[in-house]
Formats: sequence, structure tokens, C-alpha cells
Amino acid sequence: MVLSSAASKSDESIHSTFASRYVRTSLPRFRMPENSIPKEAAYQIINDELMLDGNPRLNLASFVTTWMEPECDKLIMASINKNYVDMDEYPVTTELQNRCVNMIAHLFNAPLGESEAAVGVGTVGSSEAIMLAGLAFKRKWQNKRKAQGLPCDKPNIVTGANVQVCWEKFARYFEVELKEVKLSEGYYVMDPAKAVEMVDENTICVAAILGSTLNGEFEDVKLLNDRLTEKNAKTGWDTPIHVDAASGGFIAPFLYPELEWDFRLPLVKSINASGHKYGLVYAGIGWCIWRNKEDLPEELIFHINYLGADQPTFTLNFSKGSSQIIAQYYQLIRLGFEGYRNIMENCQENAMVLKAGLEQTGRFNIVSKDDGVPLVAFSLKDNSRHDEFAVSEFLRRFGWIIPAYTMPADAQHITVLRVVIREDFSRTLAERLVLDIEKALHELDAMPCKKDMENKITKPAAIAWKKLVENSKNKGIC
Ligand SMILES: *Cc1c(COP(=O)(O)O)cnc(C)c1O
Repeated sequence: MVLSSAASKSDESIHSTFASRYVRTSLPRFRMPENSIPKEAAYQIINDELMLDGNPRLNLASFVTTWMEPECDKLIMASINKNYVDMDEYPVTTELQNRCVNMIAHLFNAPLGESEAAVGVGTVGSSEAIMLAGLAFKRKWQNKRKAQGLPCDKPNIVTGANVQVCWEKFARYFEVELKEVKLSEGYYVMDPAKAVEMVDENTICVAAILGSTLNGEFEDVKLLNDRLTEKNAKTGWDTPIHVDAASGGFIAPFLYPELEWDFRLPLVKSINASGHKYGLVYAGIGWCIWRNKEDLPEELIFHINYLGADQPTFTLNFSKGSSQIIAQYYQLIRLGFEGYRNIMENCQENAMVLKAGLEQTGRFNIVSKDDGVPLVAFSLKDNSRHDEFAVSEFLRRFGWIIPAYTMPADAQHITVLRVVIREDFSRTLAERLVLDIEKALHELDAMPCKKDMENKITKPAAIAWKKLVENSKNKGIC
């Protein structure tokens, strides 16, 4: 009697203080478990496993926001149960998305009257925005070709080889050929002259990037606009431009208001930006803005009856959360132009601190530009002994997540490391990172060189080293 009550008591205390009862055996990974477990145990188990994820704040690989103010976190949690698509039930949320579209369209200098509604839509990110923009270009081009009795089965888009993977996705999913302008050593963005040369009668648009993911550089959209205008005049085509401003859309208006990259250029018909990058909202929000109603073919728009009024929608998904839209509106009115400018200036200054620190080591070439996205991309001057992948792997031991990757064609022989500077990356962290990079280099210098490892050292050591390097090579960048 006594024994059994003691046993059940200890069982009880184990299960209420820790989920031990449920973690003695490994959890099922393929089939849903037969029985329920207490909520505390489920929480504990999942929370513990998640500890092994990297720390988002030290994830310098990503452009995506990892910190917001507690007041905004509160708004997000309060709206986590709202389905955005229920516009009739949540008219205020719909109104907030429309206000965001208007504000962002003005920021991009859309030709709008003071209280004229802009044409645009909130999306899950720039990828969805790019799918929609691409579809609009494809449909417009097809309609025009059909009307002229011309074939319209071989559409293409001209981009630089530095495009983000979502353009390749668009091309494959929607059957459009991607014609890529090759890069070269020392020039890692699309050359506007070469891009215009590649334009033909089947080109639905030229996509320029404001803030290449590889090195943060802004492509010269104005030059592209001018060259393409000349070509259009000569050929009679009217090939338009899309600007992929995933990062740059929330940087250029604040840091470089004079730079003409947006709707000030007549051929720019649509622009996407990631609200969750320098729009300063957590992952799950992007924007696509069109210049005019005419640039978004009517047949792609679905009309939802919204409180008796007409709410046009153009998205790939139906249901989605409302929180990110509300959070974007919070940032726009909370920070205002002044707040965004201060944050972007601060990021830029921290990028310069990091760049100076890296230059001082004497070991790196800087491949990013000072007037692009606040990031530092750099490669080793000498990577014959140890390469950038080894540096990246070493830095993980200090907790830093810094990707290494090779450039696309024709610059595949160049490998770079990239540190994205976000709002929450402080000056102190920048200084600390330089110290840790120095430490990593120092330790790597003391290690046998990779070729020696592969050739002379024992087989297990060589295999371990190869695995280390391969692992770091396969880490994607975002
Ligand atoms: C991040 C990025 C994308 C993809 O954007 P998501 O918002 O992550 O879908 C597209 N293009 C560029 C240039 C980017 O930097």
C-alpha cells in the first residue's frame, strides 16, 4: 500500500515538474501517437527540441526581421486568430492593408492624386508578390500578342544571373523562360546594356533588382529605363520593367531619396518589397504595387463583396493571418519617415564599422557596396589554405550564423561570406563579430591546411574535415 502510493506520488511529481515520462523513449516521427499527453509535457518537449535551433538574433544570414517592439508583439498576438480573408467580418484589418498599400505606393512615387487609392496587394512575401507581378506581365503580353495575331507561347523574362531563387520558381511554375545576363569577376549585378540586348519580342519584362541578395548592390534601374526606352522606340515593342525591391524598397526612399529607381521611371510598371525585411515586420509579409490600374489585367482580379462594397483581391492563397498586415501598419505609423530613416542610417553606419574592422585584418576583399543594402559581403584574399566555408563553420562555434556561398555564372570561382545588418544588430555586436572573426582566422591559421589534411593525415581525420566543409557548403542562403 505504502509502496504503491509512494511510487504513484513520485510518478506524478516527475510528470508535473518535467516531461520525463514522455521523453524516456523517442517521440514518434512518422505516425501520429495513439494517445494524448498533458499540455505541459507537449510544451516542454517541443520547447526543448527548439533550443537546438540557432538564435534568430545571431542569424546574420537573413534579411528578415527578428525583433519588434513589445507593443507590436501585443497587437500581433491579439490578432493571431483573425483570418485575413474574412473581409466582411474584419473590415478594419482590410482597411489597414489598403492604407499600407497607399503609403508604400506613395513611398515609391506612384503617379497618384493626394487621396487616390493605389493599386497593390499585401502578400506572404516578395516571392508571392513576384509571382503576381510576373503573371500580370505575362497576361498583358499574351493579350497584346493575341490581338495582333502573333504567337504567344514562348514568353521570357530578362534578369541578371544574380536573381533570387523565387524568379526561377516563377519561371518554372508559370512556364516563362528566364534569360539571365551573366556576371563577371568584380561585377556582380545585371549589366543594363547587356540586358537590353537580350530583350526580344517575347520578353514580357526586364526584372531589375534593388539590392542584390548576393552583395546588396542596387542595379542601375535608370540606365536600364533609358536604354530600354531607346530600344522600344526602335522596335515598336513596349517592354516594361519590374523592380524587385525586396530589400531596397524600404532602404532607398530613406537613405537615397534622389536615386531614381521607382515609378519616377516611366517603364517601371510594378515593384515588390518584403515587409518582413527592411519593412521591419516579422516573417510573412510582402507587397506588390502596380503603377496604374491598366498594368494589372482585370481578368486576374477576383472581386469579393465586402460590406456591400467591392474589394478586389489578387493573391495566390485564400486564407492567411492578419497579424503581419497589422504589424506593418504599426511600423509605418509608429516610425514614420523619420523613424525608418534613422534605423536605416544606423544599419548603414554599423555596416561601415564592420567593413572597416574586416579591412583592418588585411585578410579580406570587400565585395559589397557602401550605397546598397546595409550588409557586408567579403571574401578571403587568400583561400588556398582555408576557404570561406571553413571560416563560416568556425564562426558557428561562437554562435554566429554567417553564410558562405559561391557567386553564380560567370563568377562561380568567387566565394563570399555575407553579414546582413538588421536593426537589432548593435555596434557592440559588430565590434564583437570582428574580434571573433580574427580569432577564427587565428585558429584556422594554426590548423593544417585542408589539402594536407586530405593527403597526409589519417583517413578518419580527412573524412571528418571533408564532412565539415561539405556541410557548410550545403547551407542555403536566403
Ligand atoms: C528576399 C528576396 C526575395 C524573396 O523574398 P521573400 O520575401 O523572402 O519571399 C526576392 N528577391 C530579392 C532580391 C530578395 O532579397
